Amino acid sequence: MSDDETIFEKIVAREIPARIVYETDSVLAFLDANPLAPGHTLVVPKEAYERVGEMPDDVASEVFAAVHELTPKVEDAADADAVTVGVNDGEAAGQEVPHVHVHLVPRFDGDGGGPIHAVTG
Ligand code: C5P
Repeated sequence: MSDDETIFEKIVAREIPARIVYETDSVLAFLDANPLAPGHTLVVPKEAYERVGEMPDDVASEVFAAVHELTPKVEDAADADAVTVGVNDGEAAGQEVPHVHVHLVPRFDGDGGGPIHAVTG
């Protein structure tokens, strides 16, 4: 493996540990290492694309299918009232890891976070 792998490629390759909660041939989901709320989950394509628009249609569809399936499960598992589903797409948007990842952040009535702040931290 090359040195310029993203941290999420290393998680996909099981080179570094993560709490994996879901896996298909093309998508992995795992708990965020620095959660904004308990149950904060990241959904990633296994192949590294930096930006949302760079994903081929089939990969984008598979990522969103996973988001569709996991969002209510994350809400239930966290006993939350809602979920913020978001992507920081590009550095100016707050993207720190250059590998597309969808945040699923459990939200609670009165938790004080706005719709954007919940994603950017
Ligand atoms: O959207 P952004 O790129 O800022 O989010 C990166 C996310 O990846 C952060 O929520 C951070 O906690 C998470 N992360 C992780 N495990 C790592 C490195 C970063 O869950 N090893």
